[in-house]
This record gives sequence, C-alpha cells and structure tokens, in this order.
Amino acid sequence: MKILIVEDSRSNLLVLTQYVEQFGAIALAAENGETAVEIFSREQPDMVLLDVILPDIDGFAVAQRIRAMEKPGDWTPIIFLSSLGKDEDIEKGISAGGDDYLHKPVSQVVLNAKIRAMQRIIQMRTSLVVLARKLDTANHELKRLSASDGLTGIANRRFFDEYISREWRRARRSATSIALLMCDVDHFKLYNDTYGHQAGDDCLRQVANAIATNLERASDIAARYGGEEFAVVLPETAIGGTLFVAEKIRHAIHQLNIPHSASQLGRVTLSIGIAAATPDAGNSAEELIKAADQALYKAKDEGRDRVCRFDKLPSP
Ligand code: GH3
Ligand code: MG
Ligand code: MG
Ligand code: MG
Repeated sequence: MKILIVEDSRSNLLVLTQYVEQFGAIALAAENGETAVEIFSREQPDMVLLDVILPDIDGFAVAQRIRAMEKPGDWTPIIFLSSLGKDEDIEKGISAGGDDYLHKPVSQVVLNAKIRAMQRIIQMRTSLVVLARKLDTANHELKRLSASDGLTGIANRRFFDEYISREWRRARRSATSIALLMCDVDHFKLYNDTYGHQAGDDCLRQVANAIATNLERASDIAARYGGEEFAVVLPETAIGGTLFVAEKIRHAIHQLNIPHSASQLGRVTLSIGIAAATPDAGNSAEELIKAADQALYKAKDEGRDRVCRFDKLPSP
C-alpha cells in the first residue's frame, strides 16, 4: 500500500513517514500542494494524509483537485491532518472531498487505527466493485439471451418486433424507406420427415447463418420469425436494394447445397417475399409485414425458390 503524506513541516513529515513505514506501507512525501497533486497523478497512491495549511494551495483545494482527477468509480481515501480544530474546518474538509479529519499532533496508535479502518473500507469497496462488474456481465448476457433465438443464435421474434417498430419510427422521422424480407424454407415438413428433426434443426442453423452473414450494414438484422421462417429488416433501403439482398440470400442458400431428396428442387431452398415503404400517416409496420407475407405466398404459389416483391402496401 502506498500512502501519500502532504505536510510542509519537515519535522512532522519525518514523524508521519516513520509511522506510515512502521505500519508497513510505502510513504510518498509532498511538501506543498502542487507537488502533492503531481505525485498523486503519477503514483496513484492508495491513501492520502493531507495537511490543511500549506505554502501554496491549501489542503482543501488539493482534495478537490484529487477528486477531480479520479476516474469515475475510483476512490482514494483522504484524511485531513490539521491543528485547525473548529467544527467549520472539519465540515469544510469533508465538503472538499475528505473522508476523515485528524487533529495534530497525531498519535501513532490513532493514525494506525484510522489507516486500518480506511483499508477495511477500501477492501469492502473493491469487493463491491467486483460484484457490480459480475452483475453487469450477467445482465449483458441475460439481455443477449432474451433477444436471441435458442436454436439459431440470431435475433428472436421478440427482438424483431421491437426492432421493426423502432426502425419504422426512425424511418418516418427521416422520411426514408425501410424494407423487409420474409423468408420461408421450402418443403421443410418433408425435410424433417425425410431426414429427421435433428437434421432439420441443423438445417435451420445453417440457413439462419447464411442469411445473417449476407447482411452488410450494421443496421440490417436477421431474425427467426417462427418455425422455419426468417425475417430480415433493412433500414434505409428501397425496393431495388432489397431485391438485390434477397437474391443474394437465395443464392447463398443454394450454395449451402443441403440435399433435399423429397423436394422437386433437390436441395434446400428458400422462398422470399419482399416489401419496402416510406412510413407516413397512412401506413404502419404491421402493413409492411403483411405485404412481405403476401409476397412470400406469391413466391410459394409461383413454384418456390424465388423472390417476389410487393411494391405498394395493401390499403388498410
Ligand atoms: P412450404 O414450402 O409451403 O413452406 O412447406 P413447408 O413444409 O416448409 O411448410 P409447413 O408450414 O407445412 O411446415 C413447416 C415445418 O417446419 C413443420 C415443422 O415441423 C417444421 N419446423 C418448425 N420449426 C422447426 C424447428 O425448430 N426444427 C425443426 N426441425 N423443424 C421445425
Ligand atoms: Mg502545514
Ligand atoms: Mg412456414
Ligand atoms: Mg416452409
């Protein structure tokens, strides 16, 4: 433990240094306020013993400067040492950021006891900080888990619902187009029937991964909408760009080359419905979803393994 002693009287400094060293700590010494601030910032001591009356700036100002230098969440105990013993002085010392106030001359026994008491607080505080960090990590993990789909690891339906309504409002404010892809694995029931449910799960993981890795912008998200259906939100994207992304995804699913003998297409394929809109008073995110869904039905109807678009939102 390093303790910074700020004291302009040489004889006092000597005595205090001895006390601190006998306590078993390393003593750092400063004989004026500016030096104290400088040593504090360079050495980052664990505790400060601070005289009030100093030749340059006083101890109260030093305490304020030290507090201003500390990073958020950091705390170094400051114990004022002074012959000024009025109630107001003690109050002023604590207000300036001090944690305790001792009257000079300080006895070795009292100083040792105070240092030990402060050490105890430091230790408790450190375990609290560690605990808070663990809690923070756990909360992050919990948040991540509550937003992601257990099977595929991509965003889940809950996250999708929140995301699309948030992005819809943002698009409305900025008067930009927002697009949606509804993707559905073709003949997936047959896939399960042929290869088993576990192979089906594995196939869904691969499809989800292929969809997610083909999105480029940070604001594009892929979510598992339900069973073997995936939704992709593309903020700030018009229908042309949407068609491009959809075709890229459809192609990526082809590239996976997952055999599907029960499908006339021979491998796992995706049907995709796309829709885009610029939000205004007359439409809603729900209608965008409905439009992409209708386009998806059209893709299924027309033979699957294709992208169909829906340019205009259905009237309410
Ligand atoms: P279509 O081409 O018209 O989309 O036909 P389909 O068979 O894909 O559609 P349908 O809705 O009839 O069947 C979807 C199947 O997806 C049925 C269901 O058992 C399966 N499924 C849904 N969720 C999961 C899952 O988490 N794992 C597995 N293995 N299968 C799933
Ligand atoms: Mg002094
Ligand atoms: Mg389906
Ligand atoms: Mg399907």
